[in-house]
Amino acid sequence: MQFSELGLSEKVLRAVEASGYTTPTPIQAQAIPFALTGRDVLGIAQTGTGKTAAFVLPMLSRLEQGRARARVPRTLILEPTRELAAQVEEAFNKYGLQHKLNVALLIGGVSFGDQETKIMRGADVLIATPGRLLDFFERGKLLLTGIEILVIDEADRMLDMGFIPDIEKICKLVPFTRQTLFFSATMPPEITRLTEQFLHNPVRVEVARAATTATTIVQGLVASHGGGDKRETLRRLLREAEDLKNAIVFCNRKRDVAIVHKSLVKHGFPAGCLHGDMDQPARMASLDAFKNGDIDILVCSDVAARGLDIPDVSHVFNFDAPSHPEDYVHRIGRTGRAGRSGVSITLITTDDLKHLHQIQDLIKKEIDWLGPKLDDLPPPEHTERDRARATRTRDRRGGRVERSERPERSRRERVVSDEPPRPERAPRERVAAEEARPPREKPAREAREPRPPREQRAPRRREREDDGPAVVGFGDHLPGFLMRPVRAKAKRAE
Ligand code: AMP
Repeated sequence: MQFSELGLSEKVLRAVEASGYTTPTPIQAQAIPFALTGRDVLGIAQTGTGKTAAFVLPMLSRLEQGRARARVPRTLILEPTRELAAQVEEAFNKYGLQHKLNVALLIGGVSFGDQETKIMRGADVLIATPGRLLDFFERGKLLLTGIEILVIDEADRMLDMGFIPDIEKICKLVPFTRQTLFFSATMPPEITRLTEQFLHNPVRVEVARAATTATTIVQGLVASHGGGDKRETLRRLLREAEDLKNAIVFCNRKRDVAIVHKSLVKHGFPAGCLHGDMDQPARMASLDAFKNGDIDILVCSDVAARGLDIPDVSHVFNFDAPSHPEDYVHRIGRTGRAGRSGVSITLITTDDLKHLHQIQDLIKKEIDWLGPKLDDLPPPEHTERDRARATRTRDRRGGRVERSERPERSRRERVVSDEPPRPERAPRERVAAEEARPPREKPAREAREPRPPREQRAPRRREREDDGPAVVGFGDHLPGFLMRPVRAKAKRAE
């Protein structure tokens, strides 16, 4: 099959040729002819299969007729993340060089002003994330009544991100007669319901089973202990990996993205990070640095990295096994793209095991262990951080005992620390604690209230107490105040 057989316009064919593509990918070969005739398309395809061009190329052909009006875009593409939206914009720039179309991007984290100017000029193509689009619409800055083609991309990711109510709202705002091109890597029931509601007699194009992983990717598992040991395992793998050109490291939580990134940088790895809490310029800067090769390692969360087209990623490391098994397919799909080979390694701790079983059930395949399995791992080593902390503790205490070796001492350490004395502590111990307190507290107290020398000070109550056997009542002791009434009475009488 050749691109010229798909029915694309001359201009589009020239752009395809200029980008160096010789044959259409399966999703392109199957979807483009239908998309060109105006049929709705339901494309079930993973990223990396060429699905962006499968909707961009027919859109370009169809947009050659007609013109956009101010505030009334002609086509709308919905993307779950800002990065994906920016990536689709790049595809329009690449394939639409000769079309001189107005392409507007409506994504969060960017000022409204510039985006509004583009909409006012009349957008042939509007690429948006759902939230920002509705924001614009609700402010009356945009009309959706002129939409001829609606593309919903990465629908299952939209579901994960809670965008389905927004998508339903948007589908009701665009004309009933528009063409809809709908893409999803998986088809959970909520997505099927959405397609039944909003697609009209779609042609279903499925290029690979949703849960299949590319055969060009070598997959492996590496057992590790958790915490700092896991980061050490990752560093070892990064150092030892063969033919590592660049790598994406996935973590399940944003917090861990930050920790792993910081740790890699600290150990001298040229790494950047990408997660949803970063502002847009920072996200774009990380992504560009990775694409340009300024950094070799990008530590990511799933949301930030889903669907990103970075053509030449040699390795993917799953720092955590993903808790949604479909994410495994997406993550490792960052490598081995467009027929290239790639390596994917997943770190497995005991906490990751249950996710691993779900992943293997989904992909219907056992992933090989590289090195010992979890049960055969030697006992956890001290992590570098633990060692450093222990050294610091030893130094502080004149090289006595490693704190990590004596966890039961932690309370005793508090006795000689800055903490206030504990009520149950014996008096002598408390005095010791007072004396052992670091000198920095003393000047502060002295500044507040100058005290007489110790020998002139009245003894404190606890210091007067006897440590001897318990006594009943006053015992043999006659309290001092009972000795004083005569003088006290005499004073009062005066
Ligand atoms: P996508 O699935 O849209 O993210 O595309 C994955 C990668 O495949 C991108 O880097 C595209 O540039 C590339 N690509 C798209 N179509 C073709 C094609 N027909 N031949 C070779 N590579 C392609």
